[in-house]
Amino acid sequence: MRMVDIIQAKRDGQELTKEQIDFVIDGYTQGTIPDYQMSAWLMAIYFQNMTPLEISVLTDAMLHSGDVLNLTKIPGIKVDKHSTGGVGDKISIPLAPLVAAAGAKNPMISGRGLGHTGGTLDKLEAIPGFNVDLTEEQFIQQVTTIGTAITSATGNLAPADKKIYALRDVTGTVEAIPLISSSIMSKKLASGTDGLVLDVKTGNGAFMKTEARATELAEALVRIGHQAGIKIVALLTDMSQPLGYAIGNALEIAESIDVLKNKGPADVRELTLTLGAHMLIQAEIAEDLPTARRILENRLADGSALAKFKEMITAQGGDASIVDHPTKMPQANHTIPVLAPKAGVVDRMATDRLGVASMILGGGRQKKGDVVDHAVGLVLHKKIGDKVAHGELLATIYAEEPARPDVVDMVLAAIHIGDNATAPKLIHHIIQ
Ligand code: URA
Repeated sequence: MRMVDIIQAKRDGQELTKEQIDFVIDGYTQGTIPDYQMSAWLMAIYFQNMTPLEISVLTDAMLHSGDVLNLTKIPGIKVDKHSTGGVGDKISIPLAPLVAAAGAKNPMISGRGLGHTGGTLDKLEAIPGFNVDLTEEQFIQQVTTIGTAITSATGNLAPADKKIYALRDVTGTVEAIPLISSSIMSKKLASGTDGLVLDVKTGNGAFMKTEARATELAEALVRIGHQAGIKIVALLTDMSQPLGYAIGNALEIAESIDVLKNKGPADVRELTLTLGAHMLIQAEIAEDLPTARRILENRLADGSALAKFKEMITAQGGDASIVDHPTKMPQANHTIPVLAPKAGVVDRMATDRLGVASMILGGGRQKKGDVVDHAVGLVLHKKIGDKVAHGELLATIYAEEPARPDVVDMVLAAIHIGDNATAPKLIHHIIQ
């Protein structure tokens, strides 16, 4: 078999066979297929799409490109959540300790920033000492004793995804349903979870910009989950503006801590509770959503979710005192105000551009292997539907340099001020 023939077949819109897909995934994982051929193949998939059968074969090949975790040693039903990625999407950080405080077992394998979106692992690394590379044994041990652990797809877990993910990030091939769904589901199935709640983002800050595309992605993900025999539900949620106010690694950890302190932005709190309630149903801790939600609200109010977060940070080698002293996390040298050029109501945001602004400040990777600056980012002061006066603070930029006119211009261009607007609906619909 020759890689060039497989690239041409996909370029010409043919359905690939299992042997061809296995050849590509195996060859790329082993290093016998170079980045340039893999990039061409990914771009061909981007334009030509894949059939449900090809997606299922691709997921399976990626899932079996390395080890599959056996979590049967952990007693109880294991449940997890995964987001398709957004701007300011820090939900995993308050959610993991919250559901663990409610008694769920949550083995969470997370990713790094991709394109304009941030990644949970990059955010957690803003916590001094926090280790996101647990061994399988450490991971199992921590989920068993504490109830949750967030780690990278360590060592040999879905190694094909690790390599393909990094390549997609820098070759303009992120926004393809076969690639996103196989990436997410190969990791999640390899992690050995029994239940999965998917947060599929829709809007201009998501990879799927329209509700129709997001629904297509959600259906592909749910189909793969059903085929694998796990409990799965997908929620289509809004990404037409960032989640919460903070965008950037340490800034998002600080906002997550606010949520765990029973405060924080209403949208981050609401989505954390809603996704968490579905996880408690899958874990058979609650029979219905209102009961599940009440349990979680109590865990926020009585401080046990916050205590669980400290426990988790300590277990993963991090400095848990950042929970009480968030300024112990990396701090940017300068803050730069962005002022409203006119009065009105914020009526739309170019959400992906706000993600890119944070990335350009150093908060994400512009090319494979870039080092992330955990201190930088943005804090919004206005969201869609908020009134704003001329000259009022729209956002604050956290930067290493005293002036970043390029980023100020990007943020100003991304926050549109009109005459009237209402806040967008957070949760669009659910796909079982
Ligand atoms: N999250 C993933 O894990 N993979 C993708 O491709 C996109 C979001």
